[in-house]
Amino acid sequence: MKKWQYRLLALIALLITLCIFVFVQVRTLEVEQLSDDLFVLRGLGGNTAVLRTSAGTVVVDTMTLPLQGRRIRELAIELTGADVVLLINTHYHLDHTHGNPAFEAGTRVLSTERTLSHLETLDADFWTGEAARLLPTETFSDRMTLQVGDKTMQLIHPGAGHTDGDLVVLFRDEKVLHTGDLMFNRLYPSVDLEAGGSVPQWVLSLEIMLQLDFDRVIPGHGATTDRAGLKQFLTFMTQLADIGREVANREMSLEDTLTTTRLTADEGYQAIHMIIPLPLDREFVLTRVWEEATGNFQRLN
Ligand SMILES: [Zn+2]
Repeated sequence: MKKWQYRLLALIALLITLCIFVFVQVRTLEVEQLSDDLFVLRGLGGNTAVLRTSAGTVVVDTMTLPLQGRRIRELAIELTGADVVLLINTHYHLDHTHGNPAFEAGTRVLSTERTLSHLETLDADFWTGEAARLLPTETFSDRMTLQVGDKTMQLIHPGAGHTDGDLVVLFRDEKVLHTGDLMFNRLYPSVDLEAGGSVPQWVLSLEIMLQLDFDRVIPGHGATTDRAGLKQFLTFMTQLADIGREVANREMSLEDTLTTTRLTADEGYQAIHMIIPLPLDREFVLTRVWEEATGNFQRLN
């Protein structure tokens, strides 16, 4: 073989290895059991909750790819012994919804009205053809109590924050709150101003969430935590909201905003990793705070 042929072969071998690595990474889900009937699945994307009920399995959020959705469904059946009868999407972002199409058409899918509207407008390209059959089939605007077999859940839209359509799920029997992306645990959050997200309103939403009756927390991203973990995140968001007020009152420049010393609650926070670290860091959140306080962004829906 000639030298270039060896190089080509080496390149093909490298690409195949890379594809296998990504495939394995995408399919790999870590399982944590929170109670007899409640499990958390962690992988590339938002945290998924799996609840066993006497009337079938409930899944909250489906990660980033239909391939992961298939793995979530397989694991859910393995863990609970029953197929999935209900999907709940906490908000419209692709890392919480794009696994939906792996579930059977006709499965009940729940979200807020705003989330369905965002899916149909901001992510319309994905939700066409077969995929559209797994769009939310039922929506609500503020709160709903849900009975599935022997389990009671409360779905609450506490207000704007990460987007303007997020819901949280209170598993009443287990006293566990799935916050969706209204909480990132020790990770810098994304603030989707374009879809109605808001830092000051996020603070109010977190205060409403803390009034609920729960002990454990499944955040949208990061490790499971407790009330103290959620309060720590509230401190972080409160500092961001205070900085936003200062930006508006003193007409602070972006440069001055980025060098603020008022943000201290992010000690130990990291950027989210999805194979590579995403550009969600201290500079990103402070930039979003400045953009919201000065109106330097455009609502898309
Ligand atoms: Zn999100």
